[in-house]
Amino acid sequence: MSFTAAIIGRPNVGKSTLFNRLVGQRLALVDDLPGVTRDRREGKARLGDIEFRVIDTAGLEDVTDQSLAGRMREQTERAIDDADVVLMVIDARAGVTPMDRHFADLLRRRSVPVLLVANKSEGKGGIAGAYESFELGLGDPIAISAEHGEGLSDLFDALVPYAGEPVDAAEGALADAPSAADGEAVEDDPAKPIQLAIVGRPNVGKSTLINRLLGEDRLLTGPEAGITRDSIAIEWAWRGRPIKLIDTAGLRRKSVIEHKLEKLSVADTLRAIRFAELVVLVVDATQMLEKQDLTIARMIEDEGRSIVLAVNKWDLIENKPAALEKLRDRLQISLPQLQGLTCIPVSGATGAGLDKLMKAGLDAHAVWNRRIPTPKLNRWLAEVQERHPPPLVDGRRLRLRYMTQANTRPPTFALFSSKPGELPDSYRRYLVNLMRETFDMPGTPIRVMLRKGA
Ligand code: GDP
Ligand code: GDP
Repeated sequence: MSFTAAIIGRPNVGKSTLFNRLVGQRLALVDDLPGVTRDRREGKARLGDIEFRVIDTAGLEDVTDQSLAGRMREQTERAIDDADVVLMVIDARAGVTPMDRHFADLLRRRSVPVLLVANKSEGKGGIAGAYESFELGLGDPIAISAEHGEGLSDLFDALVPYAGEPVDAAEGALADAPSAADGEAVEDDPAKPIQLAIVGRPNVGKSTLINRLLGEDRLLTGPEAGITRDSIAIEWAWRGRPIKLIDTAGLRRKSVIEHKLEKLSVADTLRAIRFAELVVLVVDATQMLEKQDLTIARMIEDEGRSIVLAVNKWDLIENKPAALEKLRDRLQISLPQLQGLTCIPVSGATGAGLDKLMKAGLDAHAVWNRRIPTPKLNRWLAEVQERHPPPLVDGRRLRLRYMTQANTRPPTFALFSSKPGELPDSYRRYLVNLMRETFDMPGTPIRVMLRKGA
């Protein structure tokens, strides 16, 4: 069996109901198994086409109050030890209770990936609790109804990453490249075209680049393929990945009015960026990063799109290493909010570097869609605070409690602290840049929302 999931949560949230739902008729068999402790049931679960072992920690309601907390804790710890992933169940109707928080605290200290399951979410009653559960710092809740069998496909989607390679959840993964085995997920449908915009000042070579990109690709589809400048969006594919190129009005207008001294249309550029998921910002290597280039880059950052920089007309550059170094310096100073931005030297005229450019673009897009598991973030946060503690505020050390990725596209994190208003911006930037390094997210817009949390 591919992996083990433990169902954890306070009494009455619906753990047994979920267990029964997952295990189905195999349950009877499980009960007969010798050696299965009374307060721990195990079974073979099936969800969609994945099979896994599931551990239920329910049945503790019978224990006397006095020993409840201790036994429950011990029992939970044991189940976590055995699990590759934990399903932390809450009752979406009841909202978040102190006991839920207790379980969440316990889980955040462990290195096991956790999926937060908001049960009893059928109908409308569950919505409030699902929102509230965000404060547990365990990521987005998966709303289900174990009793009615609803939301199980979302649960399935969340469990799929664990069905692959066996997971060593205890492995310290701080320095490791993120991998699917650690609960990492790229929330992207490879069959859906990536919305791509190619933007830049006039005359940097956008049209040349686009024509070269499309002309070189054999998979080019659509009857209007040849008339780049007159279509709104062009669908093509790069190495099997469908891509929809969003045409900017600026490109089209150019064919009509053959104007040499064109002005950058900020409105058109912004429109293209807003439609896009991935933006290739084209700059002219012979006029390294002008003010307008930076303005566009900041627009892309503001809109939170994934981005790569195409340094075009590279064929005209003689001292290439020096040019690259100069570019990196300028980026470091002028665009610190996009630290590590990928720059690919290209030539629309010769076609050089285009393959690399597209690969870098797809990589940036994948990072933009990625979700880092909460336990991994919190292990990292704890280590960072140890190495480089947040500053003192009124003589007291500010403590960052926990962190969770609230969203993707762009990666957005909620950071909980007792005094969210007091965290200096410099420390926030430090965290963001360290996060880029640790989790391999160079040049991606990253959002960190500070939240109040006990
Ligand atoms: P456990 O103590 O966590 O194992 O919880 P149980 O599985 O015994 O469920 C506790 C109560 O919640 C029972 O009365 C269940 O019928 C009820 N319950 C479980 N799942 C759902 C659900 O999805 N919706 C609703 N409305 N009730 C549920
Ligand atoms: P756009 O306004 O950004 O669409 O720029 P164009 O594609 O119209 O190119 C502007 C000028 O730069 C044209 O004269 C192109 O021939 C030239 N150009 C574009 N790409 C390259 C390149 O990679 N190398 C060189 N040497 N010239 C280029």
